[in-house]
Amino acid sequence: MNANTNVDDAEIAHFDRIAELWWDPDGKMGQLHAINHLRLTFITDRFPTSNPRVVDVGCGGGILSEALCRSGAEVTGIDPSSLSLKVARKHALSEGLEINYRSVDVETLAQAEAGSFDVVTCMEMLEHVPHPEHIVAACARLLKPGGVAFFSTINRSFKAFAFAIVAGEYILGLLPRGTHRYDRLIRPRELYGWAATNGLRHTAVASLMYNPLRHRFRVAPNREDVNYMASFKRET
Ligand code: SAH
Repeated sequence: MNANTNVDDAEIAHFDRIAELWWDPDGKMGQLHAINHLRLTFITDRFPTSNPRVVDVGCGGGILSEALCRSGAEVTGIDPSSLSLKVARKHALSEGLEINYRSVDVETLAQAEAGSFDVVTCMEMLEHVPHPEHIVAACARLLKPGGVAFFSTINRSFKAFAFAIVAGEYILGLLPRGTHRYDRLIRPRELYGWAATNGLRHTAVASLMYNPLRHRFRVAPNREDVNYMASFKRET
């Protein structure tokens, strides 16, 4: 049992179990590969500085961490799933990428290294923790003034239930079954509220739209749909 009550052991066990799938673009984690270049552009377009210090919170096998590293960022990736980190380290090594992977929770890191990152990315992760608002607070703390935070998650709406859970996990099989729990999904207003409480000003939002006929995703700017991502600036 993890000492941090904001780490759900069942969630971590799930990600440990599927750790070998992270780098199979045709497997059950393929959706993250399919959206990676889209979310990367959303993020790098909003970098507050070139070659920023980035912490990727809930980095999993490092799909986004590696892309950020290739785009010139100095990347630290953190995740409580030790098997995922093992896969991430091995993969980065094989690609010749230098990424600092650490098995530490974000609240602990925020106490030790407050104000030391230009960018925080926390993608597809908030819906896997009991208290996402505490994660948002810790992410805000990690940022330098003027730094930028990125969060992506799934909306808690009927459409999200139908598309992300029923269709995504059970009909189309885009994601492993049991990946998402409806009650853990997050409405954009909730995310913006937690961010504002922690000195993060909402700056942009976009959604990733899936076309099942073409098996392709595209970005819809200024839209809060099923899969949305948002950026926030830490007030100086
Ligand atoms: N951000 C990655 C992986 C998303 S999957 C990407 O988008 O490519 C969700 C990840 O969140 C898993 O690797 C899981 O282990 C991690 N996670 C779950 N609870 C967490 C917590 N409390 N702190 C940090 N990471 C957590």
